[in-house]
Amino acid sequence: MHGGGGVRLTAASLHDRAAAHAPALWRRHDVIDGATGSRTVSETDVVVIGAGIAGLCAAGELVRAGRRVIVLEKSRGVGGRMATRRVGAAVCDHGAQFFTVRGRGFEGLVRDAAADGAVTVWCHGFTRNAAPVAGDGHPRWRGATGMTDLPKRLAALATTAGSSGRCVIRTASRAVAVGPSGVKGDGHRVDVMLEASDGAPVEGLSARGALLTTPVPQSLDLLAAAGVALDPATGDRLATVGYDPCFALMVVLDRPSLVPPPGGMQFDVDEGAVVAWIADNQQKGISAVPALTVHATGRFSREHFDAPPADVERILLEHARPWIDGDPARVVVATSLQRWKFALPTTVVAEPLVAVSDAPPIACCGDAFAGPRVEGAASSGMAAARWIDHALAAVADGRAP
Ligand SMILES: Cc1cc2nc3c(=O)[nH]c(=O)nc-3n(C[C@H](O)[C@H](O)[C@H](O)COP(=O)(O)OP(=O)(O)OC[C@H]3O[C@@H](n4cnc5c(N)ncnc54)[C@H](O)[C@@H]3O)c2cc1C
Repeated sequence: MHGGGGVRLTAASLHDRAAAHAPALWRRHDVIDGATGSRTVSETDVVVIGAGIAGLCAAGELVRAGRRVIVLEKSRGVGGRMATRRVGAAVCDHGAQFFTVRGRGFEGLVRDAAADGAVTVWCHGFTRNAAPVAGDGHPRWRGATGMTDLPKRLAALATTAGSSGRCVIRTASRAVAVGPSGVKGDGHRVDVMLEASDGAPVEGLSARGALLTTPVPQSLDLLAAAGVALDPATGDRLATVGYDPCFALMVVLDRPSLVPPPGGMQFDVDEGAVVAWIADNQQKGISAVPALTVHATGRFSREHFDAPPADVERILLEHARPWIDGDPARVVVATSLQRWKFALPTTVVAEPLVAVSDAPPIACCGDAFAGPRVEGAASSGMAAARWIDHALAAVADGRAP
């Protein structure tokens, strides 16, 4: 079903293979080796790359199954594209704005989070092109204090002692290569190389399996850096995944905005459209002071991706002008521009994961698999965790996975 076994193993070690693909990294590693005389290697059942909603759902599922998990996250906090930022006195969600709940697995998770006060219903529909839309009865959820609340809760649950498994989440830790280990020669281990964003030494992790929840182009880079050669069918499936970028402009105001209730406006993204979405974070209930989040369309973001940020900010502010009560030169208190390179998948794989290797089990998952949204990412992460748990059990039993 998941098209596994897509990797061709060679006898060479990850170190040897990665040396060809990431010479600078490995030179640095060698220098550190030379300085310390030792190489740090930690050992675990599963390494999860990325602490977005997919990675955290996967980690939780694996811990409940009794597995030891290490989650590596390159940023300083968890959540990935479920991102909340403080801008002056304001709080702005600048990645995902809300989420919907349609499937059973995610529903249970959201129900528990709601009971704990971590998430709440925002509304049942937004205005479209500033015209009121009758609520469709389908709840749009938000984090209680911002979209990072749900990932933070999942991270806390996964790492709480008392679960049968164990999970460590390492933030500010960037994976740079992931691939089957050739060192032991049994094809049943995965080597992960990482470096800390603060320049801490390159380090090795050894695991029995790995899940890559990063956007697919980044996952392919991690595999390539380890010298992994995907079989053509697997490579082709992953290569079909594409993403739109997105600029998010956060605008803090000195007075309430003119955004109509419930504080979220969707716009048609036809040709020439610049803005796809505007939210009022104060009406949304997460910011004490008025602050907008303005999302550019995929097309505008692509065309202006390398434009000077000041130009992008000026254009987006012009388009948000009708919902700002007064001259922006006087009423805008602060702005902050975020550029998402892989914001929303434009094409997705129809299955919840793609296995790139069965033994050792390595799979790609996340929002590019089965659903290009928060819920799709969560479901994909949970499905990938179940897949890897079964694969590890099969290996332990001496059965072919
Ligand atoms: C602007 C914007 C608006 C959106 N609006 C909505 C919305 O309203 N509703 C909705 O449902 N969805 C929305 N989405 C999509 C939603 O945010 C994503 O589908 C979902 O959050 C993806 O989760 P994920 O875990 O698959 O990936 P991510 O959240 O991207 O998680 C991947 C993680 O991997 C980390 N990482 C990357 N490379 C490495 C590395 N080498 N080593 C270690 N860690 C690494 C990243 O830092 C990140 O934390 C929006 C997205 C954006 C950007």
